[in-house]
Order: sequence, then C-alpha cells, then structure tokens
Amino acid sequence: MKVLVINCGSSSLKYQLIDSETESVIAKGLCERIGIDGGIISYAPAGGEKQEQQIEMPDHKKAIELVIGYLTDANTGVVKDLSEIGAVGHRIVHGGEKFTKSVVINEEVKKAIEEVSDLAPLHNPANLIGVNACEALMPGVPMVAVFDTAFHQTMPEESYMYALPYEYYEKYRVRRYGFHGTSHAYVSNRVAEILGKKPEDLKTIVCHLGNGASVSAVKNGKCIDTSMGLTPLEGLIMGTRSGDLDASIVEFICKKENISVSDMLNVLNKKSGVLGLSAGLGSDFRDLEKGYNEGNAGGKRAIEAFVYRVVKYIGAYAAAMDGVDVICFTAGVGENSGFVRKKIVERISYLGIKLDEDANGKRGEEIAISTADSKVKVYVVPTNEELAIARDTVALA
Ligand code: ADP
Repeated sequence: MKVLVINCGSSSLKYQLIDSETESVIAKGLCERIGIDGGIISYAPAGGEKQEQQIEMPDHKKAIELVIGYLTDANTGVVKDLSEIGAVGHRIVHGGEKFTKSVVINEEVKKAIEEVSDLAPLHNPANLIGVNACEALMPGVPMVAVFDTAFHQTMPEESYMYALPYEYYEKYRVRRYGFHGTSHAYVSNRVAEILGKKPEDLKTIVCHLGNGASVSAVKNGKCIDTSMGLTPLEGLIMGTRSGDLDASIVEFICKKENISVSDMLNVLNKKSGVLGLSAGLGSDFRDLEKGYNEGNAGGKRAIEAFVYRVVKYIGAYAAAMDGVDVICFTAGVGENSGFVRKKIVERISYLGIKLDEDANGKRGEEIAISTADSKVKVYVVPTNEELAIARDTVALA
C-alpha cells in the first residue's frame, strides 16, 4: 500500500509518500509559509531531481492540493492518480490521556483531538486543519492519527504526577505527557531487534537529541518516564528551550524586565536553551561545536551544560529502572555528533561503558558505539518517525 504521511504545523506541512511493502520513501517534500506571503513548496521523488517552487498557499488545503499535483504529475509524479494512495497517516502532537495508541480518524476522534487542544494550542489545531484538508481532497481514503504522546501513556502515576494541588490534575489534567513518543517507540523497538531480544526483556534509555530533545526510560517495552512534561518545554536543555528550571524564575524575570508571563514563556521556548546559554552563538550544534573548538566561551558553556543535563537524566533513569541494558542516541544531534556523544559517554563510564572511538566517528548510521566488552551497550539508531507513522497507518487502515 502507498501511504501518505502528513506532519502539519501552523504554517508548514511536511509530507512523505511511503511504500509500505518495501518501507521505502517514494517521494517527500515540504510546504513552508502557508498563510504567509512568500510560500515555497519542495518535492523530491526518490532517485529524481528535487524541485522547488515559490507559490502562495493561503491555507493548508491549497498546500495539500499542490502536494497532490506534484505526486500525480504526468512527467515527474510518482502515482498515476489518487486512487493509488491507500491511506493517510497524520502526526498529531497531543492526545492527552484519551489516546494511548494510534486510531482511525472519525468525527468523534476529531472532536477529542480538539478537546485536548488547550494542552497544545499551537499544534493540535494545525494538525486538525491538515486532517480536514486531506479529507476534503481525498474523500473515502482512511485517515489515521498517530500521537506524539501515546507511547508515554504507560507511565505510572509516580512519574507523571506533578506535586501540585491534586485538583489541578482533576480539573485540568495537568500532568506529564511527554512528546517524541513515535521516535522513542521506534528506537526502543528497533534496538531490541538489533540485539536479537524482545523489548520485554530490556531496560532501554533513549536519548532523542535534536533541536527539541527528550530522554525516555523504557522498561520491558513500556515507557516508565520521560523528560518532557505537560508541554515540550521541560527536561533537557534544547536548541532554544530551557528545559528544567525553578518556576520562580518566571515571576522574578517578569518583574525585572517588566514583561508578561506569555512574553517570558516565549523567552523560555524560543530564546533559551543552547542559544541562550551560548549568548547567541546559535542553536545549531554544528555552530556550537565549531565555537567550542575555536575556544568560544559561549559554545563551551552551552555544550558542557547540555551534556551534563543528559548525563543527569541517564543516571536518574538507570536508577528509575533499577538498571539499564542499552542506551540509544537518535535525532539530529544524537545521530550526527560524535563530539557530543563522546562527551556524554565519557561521563557514564561508572555504568561499565567503554566507547568504541572508531564506531563513534561514524555519522547517521545504525551502529554500536560501545566496545564488545561494554557492560551496558550504547547504540546510534537513526529515528524514522514517518516510517513508524506509516506502519501504524497500514495496520489500522
Ligand atoms: P528537530 O526535528 O527537533 O527540528 P532534528 O532532529 O532535525 O531536530 O535535529 C536538528 C539538530 O541536529 C540541529 O541542532 C543541528 O545542528 C543538529 N545536527 C544536524 N547535523 C549535525 C552534525 N553533523 N553535527 C552536529 N549537529 C548536527
């Protein structure tokens, strides 16, 4: 079956057409600046030339119309007509407590996604716009919702509850949800496969280190804790997000700088993390590494703090699971930066880990970076959220 995977943001839309039999990408691309002047769409068929076009996209329906146009184009398209697309898988950011796994989308599901929108006001409404646009343009094609939060719904109360008045949970469902679930699920299952073991027999820590970053503790195939919280702001130091901090800082800075809580949240989400720590050197680890190696104090400060936070979470999750068998690195930084991986692994040698320096020098490969005699194994497992979405979509459609 050919499955269209859609990841819809408020002004962007990423898409991939995947052949579920071969699990290969048939075509992929990105629509940017939807609803904003200066729209741009890209389309890359597998083995073909990437195309880019500047075109206004007043809404997501127009963007999906254009995507379909590219996919079915007589010369450079990859399908004869839309009937070849068997199902559409949609990435939905927040499923609240309602969705513990992927589901076929119907009116009731859409209503439930809308109901949890106050937990992800920037993401869920945009995700739904993508669903509605696809339904309008591809009537009768099954649509599946795959949630970023679903994998983490197995967390026990002790790890998902915040120590706040309990009524906030009862009234507003304030708790830890966790994100990047599709990635944590894919990587923890994949590493079990690589090791020739069942997920049920492993204690795994997954470090998803990208621009957004999170760690999860996966015990016997189930997530028991993760670093992101009610929103993706908590946990690790990220590209531009602060991660964990003392909540009192919010009021303190609001008073000092005479800004609102919303302004401050914007600072915590968009101007903090390694970008903030490096005093503006950047949020991209390639720039930070370069700065670090050239003796830039901001680059060094940001990378050391980033590494330290990851090391703390690994220690905490090894304790939470009463041990750890395998640690996985994934996403942009985790897959590509041997520099950052080495710094992390060197600080967890107490777990009986020895780094294989040659293997760690590789980039973007599925590979063991611990030596054969290492007590705890360390792997790089490139994530593939689109494939995981396509698999769920086929299974349900
Ligand atoms: P997201 O999906 O959260 O936007 P990604 O998983 O794509 O993020 O990761 C983006 C991050 O990966 C950026 O900070 C980028 O610098 C980093 N990255 C990509 N390639 C490299 C590399 N070769 N070395 C170091 N960092 C890299």
